[in-house]
Amino acid sequence: MPLDDVDQSGVPDRVEDIAKQVWAAHHLYCEVLKFPDPFKSERYQGVTCIQVSLRDLGGGNGLAFTSPQRARQIPEGKSTDRTIVMSVNCKLNPMKNITPAHETFHLVQYGATYFKNSWFLEGMARWSEHALAREAIGQVKYSPQGPWPQKPQHLRQLSKMSYDAEYVLWNPIAFRTDRDGLLSDKLLGERLTTLRYSDGTPVLRDRTLQGAEIMRDIVIELGKLDDVAFEELEYDRWSEMNQRADENNPYIYKAVMDVLRRRVPSVGPYETPPVKRSMVPNKTLSDAFQVASVWNGESKFKDFKLTVLERSSDRFKARFESNNWVREVSGTAVGDSVSWDAEAVRVVKGNAGGDNQGKIASDDKGIRIDFVWRNGNNQGTFTLRKQD
Ligand SMILES: [Zn+2]
Repeated sequence: MPLDDVDQSGVPDRVEDIAKQVWAAHHLYCEVLKFPDPFKSERYQGVTCIQVSLRDLGGGNGLAFTSPQRARQIPEGKSTDRTIVMSVNCKLNPMKNITPAHETFHLVQYGATYFKNSWFLEGMARWSEHALAREAIGQVKYSPQGPWPQKPQHLRQLSKMSYDAEYVLWNPIAFRTDRDGLLSDKLLGERLTTLRYSDGTPVLRDRTLQGAEIMRDIVIELGKLDDVAFEELEYDRWSEMNQRADENNPYIYKAVMDVLRRRVPSVGPYETPPVKRSMVPNKTLSDAFQVASVWNGESKFKDFKLTVLERSSDRFKARFESNNWVREVSGTAVGDSVSWDAEAVRVVKGNAGGDNQGKIASDDKGIRIDFVWRNGNNQGTFTLRKQD
């Protein structure tokens, strides 16, 4: 990370520039455009700040985490401060990259609803990038005229989408309900319109964003529909698996269509399908660790690959390989933990490695396992991420 400090504030300009983008995004979404503020949400009660970690994220740009944590101590803070956390790649230049704003929008989404299905989470976050970015709305690849709701085959495709859902759902809806999308200087206020990066360029690159009102209303509606889904799908809690379950899709889509219909009366009916109660599994994170699932190493460990070969309740067998070794490992997967010991490894090539303990977690890029390994006095960490 460049440590230049042209304004001699004692803080590198890069750090200040990232903080400015996060502040501008939060202010624009929550104060100007009136999206529900995560700081005022039920989920983040007692949370007072956003903690941004600048880290080497390998090829990734950023991550936003759902669970609030105790904040790192800073001179301005109190020891009891709680925070929501995002990681931003330390190599990223916020003057050229809108990731900090994208991650900030995820925090707005997390504060408003428990749904984390990618076509909503990432698709709408991509739409939100247009708030600060220079270009207007971006590509529209589905007719804003509809039909709404979309045909069943389109809905099946949509449910598998992620970032690209922007083009076929969120942008068309924005375009349909908000032709000009002009944000006036009066609406934006002076602090936002005059905020500049360290190179003198404005943080707010243009004055247009189509669809802000309907997106806000959809996010609010999702906060209601997630209660309905929780009840009807008989969730016991909002586990990470439940937040991402395919069964949520009809509830999310119903919220979108119900809100769209308030502005476009020709939108047809859309109801969630009846729930076959016995069919709804009580999912836990370790269910993501199923047979044939493939898990790839991150950052320095890109050559790591783990393939689950067998699984019977909490026991599993997997092939774990890298450029230097190939191991057949036997271990346990229960709740959110995955572990195996070196002595239960069959070495195919190289050595057996150490004892491994992993914790399954979820972030806005999907599901990952954070491992700690130990071998005599040596220990280290690595992360495996589930391949889609
Ligand atoms: Zn994202």
